[in-house]
Amino acid sequence: MAGRWARQLVVTVAVEADDPAVVGRTGSYRSLAGLARFHELCRRSGVRPTYLLTWSAASEGGCVEFARSAAGEAEFGAHLHPEEVPPVAESERGQHTLRPRDVEPERLRAKLGHLVDRVAEAVGRRPTSYRAGFLDLTAAQVSALAELGIEADSSLGPLEKTREGYPYVSAPMAPYPLDGADVCRPGASGVVEVPVTSAFRRPFPRVFFGAYFAVPGVVRGALRRVGGAELLRFRPAMASGAELVAVCERTERLGVPAVMSIHSNELSAGTSRPVRTEGESAAYFGRLEQVFAHAQERGWASRTLTEVARDLRGGGPHAEAG
Ligand SMILES: [Zn+2]
Repeated sequence: MAGRWARQLVVTVAVEADDPAVVGRTGSYRSLAGLARFHELCRRSGVRPTYLLTWSAASEGGCVEFARSAAGEAEFGAHLHPEEVPPVAESERGQHTLRPRDVEPERLRAKLGHLVDRVAEAVGRRPTSYRAGFLDLTAAQVSALAELGIEADSSLGPLEKTREGYPYVSAPMAPYPLDGADVCRPGASGVVEVPVTSAFRRPFPRVFFGAYFAVPGVVRGALRRVGGAELLRFRPAMASGAELVAVCERTERLGVPAVMSIHSNELSAGTSRPVRTEGESAAYFGRLEQVFAHAQERGWASRTLTEVARDLRGGGPHAEAG
């Protein structure tokens, strides 16, 4: 069904500590102050965000308080950065770039169970949505997530870059049920993937995605300069307001939801690399307002990750309307 997911805005926020490279120490949560301002903007704009809590966020008093106060107006899921979730091996301690795939499978399973329990304790209900740290989703995580009652994952997308390059280039752009063995393929694991959105500014044939990433970066730069193929990320930290709106328009044409990725430390000034000053923070919020207004004026629906997963299993958001 072409277009079944068009005009749906899914706003996801990974709630994690301030960037240590900016604030000078690890584990600080000064940026939590920005969450209330962001949540108020969402409320005014009719947006129901999905907050994905890390272990350390779910262990922070300020974050627990926020989650309890916003629980009726938002979804709270889980976000795995494995080095902070017990059991922590000696070799993992302080490894802030540890990927889920680098963790031994038995320990990874235990960490996922503990993370989900901690988020449930913090929020007062079991999480049903998830994102892997560094967008590093593996089949081992998918099977563990299914057992833990997670219904929706949002960790990959065909145009997303990871340490491995572009490992998800063959994955669908629209939501799909994840396979238990190959995360890029539809299957029957019970967990629905809601892909993170990036899009080419102009129509770009799907069959050339792989070729595009195979050419050297300098060629991609040249293509971008002549307007041939420009990749836009649906992240307010990495795109202008006009570019974010352009992504919305592309997703509408493609018939996929627009899944925005935010890091909580971008919501305050001076706690992340992209938003260092009050001026940059005002501009960041300005971009968010521009996208939310675009969606609102055009009658878009705001969906949480789990709502999208349930729509997929139920035959799609427009299934009843035809
Ligand atoms: Zn993260």
